Amino acid sequence: MAAQNLRIPGPTPMPESVRAALANQMVNHRGAEFKLLLGEVRARLANIFDTQNEILCFTASGTGGLEAAIVNLFSPGDRALMVVGGVFGERAAAIAQAFGVNVTRLEHSWGSACSPIALRDALRANPDVKVVYLTHNETSTGVTNPLGRLSQIVHEESKALLLVDSVSGVGALPLETDAWGIDVVVSASQKAFGCPPGLSMLSVSPRAWEAVAQSRMPRYYWDFQRLREAHNEGSTPYTPAVSVFYGLSAALDLMEHEGASARFTRHQRAGDMVRNAVLDMGLGLFADPPHNSNVVTAITLPEGVAPKDVRDEMRARYNTVIAGGQERLKDTVVRIGHLGFFSEEDLTQTLEQLDTVTKALARR
Ligand SMILES: *Cc1c(COP(=O)(O)O)cnc(C)c1O
Repeated sequence: MAAQNLRIPGPTPMPESVRAALANQMVNHRGAEFKLLLGEVRARLANIFDTQNEILCFTASGTGGLEAAIVNLFSPGDRALMVVGGVFGERAAAIAQAFGVNVTRLEHSWGSACSPIALRDALRANPDVKVVYLTHNETSTGVTNPLGRLSQIVHEESKALLLVDSVSGVGALPLETDAWGIDVVVSASQKAFGCPPGLSMLSVSPRAWEAVAQSRMPRYYWDFQRLREAHNEGSTPYTPAVSVFYGLSAALDLMEHEGASARFTRHQRAGDMVRNAVLDMGLGLFADPPHNSNVVTAITLPEGVAPKDVRDEMRARYNTVIAGGQERLKDTVVRIGHLGFFSEEDLTQTLEQLDTVTKALARR
């Protein structure tokens, strides 16, 4: 299979060293080698999450990690305030509802960020919520919520636990898990970590562990306590995605070598560059400034140019794959991912191709 120029917001292209690591032979997942690897990866992930909290690694995609967080934090009937402004916020709310959580939604329009004032008012109107859920980076709309500010409001106005989907944020966008008091952060291997899908990594605060001990939600595979006990023995309760751990260890080498601030700057520059190019070529940005995401850009097209045609042409002419819109944005946007391991040249090339294709389609 010829390598695609893959420019979607996850899975992201894997660096050579990650690909090489993935080819390593299997080991006993209850043996000494895996114990070392798991311990090393968890400690290094804590550093990337900027936390002293424990890191849990589930063999799952990001959605599995979110479901795990929900079934461990709540009991049926508990109340949640869930901020919804795109597909991923919707998904988290749907999971919670499926498990009988009493969900109050704070909706904000798709393409905008959650307003701190709206959040404050919602917390005042709902003083008994147990958990507040926020999406850090809403990958469907290309919006990054002002998470530091929103977290501060949650703590000022309530004693609620704070659950954050940062599946597409961790590693690429500034995130201060402990300083911002985020009780559970959910991420996944196939976004900024440049690894295959297969692991969902979570950080869990001491306050969250207290809630876990009290929660009466039915669960088995997703049980935090069982995973924690196994992790403390250097293992997992069930067979883990061993190869993805190999890849993650190699990815962490690269991420540490680059350093957090250089990594955040590289993503910031990519975001600026993509947005400037999009506006220069006469296309539109779906997300409102200043909350445009630095890891994914949702682009609106000229009248009469369909997202599907743009994607098909990009693929046919250049073997470049960009993302479409999800759900209600299907006919509205195309999205370019710029997270994980990319170079500026990768992006300039993709943007030039997009310019050629949209102009050709507009003339048709
Ligand atoms: C990718 C992503 C997820 C998880 O999706 P999976 O396909 O289950 O890995 C969740 N939230 C956000 C914001 C994402 O970008």
